[in-house]
Amino acid sequence: MADTKHGYLVITDISGYTSYLASVELEHAQEILTDLLEIIVDNFKKMMTISKLEGDAIFANIDEENLARPESLLELIEDTYFAFRRRRESSKRSTTCTCKACQGMPALELKFFVHYGDYMLQNISGIRELLGSDVNLVHRLTKNHISENTGWKAYALFTETALQYINLQLPGLHQQEETYEHLGTVQTRTFDLLPRYQAFVAAQRVLLSAEESDVVTRYEFDHPLPIVWDWMMDIAKRNEAMGEMGQWNVVSRTQGRTGIGSSNHCAHGRGSSVETIMDWRPFEYTTVDSTDGKMQFRESMLFTSLAKNATRVEARIKLLKPAPLFISRFMMKKQFNAENPYKKWFERVHSLLSAQPK
Ligand SMILES: [Zn+2]
Repeated sequence: MADTKHGYLVITDISGYTSYLASVELEHAQEILTDLLEIIVDNFKKMMTISKLEGDAIFANIDEENLARPESLLELIEDTYFAFRRRRESSKRSTTCTCKACQGMPALELKFFVHYGDYMLQNISGIRELLGSDVNLVHRLTKNHISENTGWKAYALFTETALQYINLQLPGLHQQEETYEHLGTVQTRTFDLLPRYQAFVAAQRVLLSAEESDVVTRYEFDHPLPIVWDWMMDIAKRNEAMGEMGQWNVVSRTQGRTGIGSSNHCAHGRGSSVETIMDWRPFEYTTVDSTDGKMQFRESMLFTSLAKNATRVEARIKLLKPAPLFISRFMMKKQFNAENPYKKWFERVHSLLSAQPK
């Protein structure tokens, strides 16, 4: 018997591959494909279940209840695309080998298709397969008119249904209808991944080193990194964990999303604070500048995967104001020694996470 599940169905597909394979030396082309698929699978596995490898495509899914913060799915897609681009560009083959496969590598691009719906898990002799008309639909989406209408080569396409569940107001989406035999008309929303990648490459990294920080708090969770990331970044989850320590609200979101320039407000016992995001690298680190009364500080929060179910979070804090700093630093360190609010927060997240059904 199979249960019906609800969640996100994602296909990522290396475009241009069929014609590439047909026109070039097979041996190097196969190695290049394996290498690129590996980097995609490694990235996807952080969060998704890989359902199937389908030639130059990967089909993956995540049950709704395993994704606390749907925006993370978007972040995973971008992160995967960035990793793909880095791998493609850093490959020595394209500069050292003169065969057509290696020289043609820069033409390979990545596309993502995301749908939300129902599916059943079927197990036949140990072979696991997802079934359902939503599964068929996400596969059909790979045949569409996006590139011919927009000229985009690397993009993420969402069905309208998927985007409603992710619940973000994103600017610059290309809206398009696609019609498929037996499935009817599907509304899609697509965004171009190339400008996101260019912005990512151009952006300055803002990250405190442990040495320049005044206080460093490390904590190890026995949970996968994307789940810990979700619980630290999702405002509702943050509030659940912090309780009387602080209640958060979103003040602004740049481009409809969490990112550089976004800000959050926190009300706590004696007052309130506002944090502005200075750098935002999903699943890697975030840096925020916070103002709390006369106090101003920078905080970098780093995420490191130690094993599949082990994640280290490190909070690095550096006081920026008020002067004289040697006095305020002394006061802050004293306070942290008496009761470290970050440790308390991490412990609460940990106990909430551990209480969740696996
Ligand atoms: Zn070659």
